[in-house]
Amino acid sequence: MRQVKKIIQAQIKKFSELTKQEQKLLYLAAEARLKAQTPYSHYCVGAAILTEDGKMYKGCNVERCTYTQTTHAEQNAIDTMVAEQGSTKIKIVVVVAGPEGIPINIPPKKKGKSIKAIDERICVPCGHCLQIVWENCMVDPKVKLIGLADNGEITSTTIGDAFPMRFGPESLKIDYRKNKKLE
Ligand SMILES: [Zn+2]
Repeated sequence: MRQVKKIIQAQIKKFSELTKQEQKLLYLAAEARLKAQTPYSHYCVGAAILTEDGKMYKGCNVERCTYTQTTHAEQNAIDTMVAEQGSTKIKIVVVVAGPEGIPINIPPKKKGKSIKAIDERICVPCGHCLQIVWENCMVDPKVKLIGLADNGEITSTTIGDAFPMRFGPESLKIDYRKNKKLE
């Protein structure tokens, strides 16, 4: 047997340690979270993305009574980007999430003890959204994922760390930027 290992890293950040662009994305994500349609889960998520050409898009989760037709916030933001400018590489994804009725302020207010382990209440996209995000990373594992949970904790990691064993368009030899059949 031969073992292969990967160390997964995330940083806990203060709001003041984020770039101006990252702070703006947090505001956009928190703003979108307030619009979330969540009559079933009562769990509200807002997302904002930065594209490689400097544009920002936001999205929130939108639930439907059939459950499986629910749109996730990251998906909403990415699909809005595709509708606006086609398949584009994203550079940063910001997610703000927490139960309905719990305000998440920007700049955040820390609540409770600081987290110590990577799996303690950090805010990262769900598995479904990690796949959706990876599709528009154009094979760049360094795309940043920043999360803000309702405990006020900001974490920063990369898609490569959050989604270490990936299946993506590259696995099927697809490059979105070279596969435009309609042009
Ligand atoms: Zn999701």
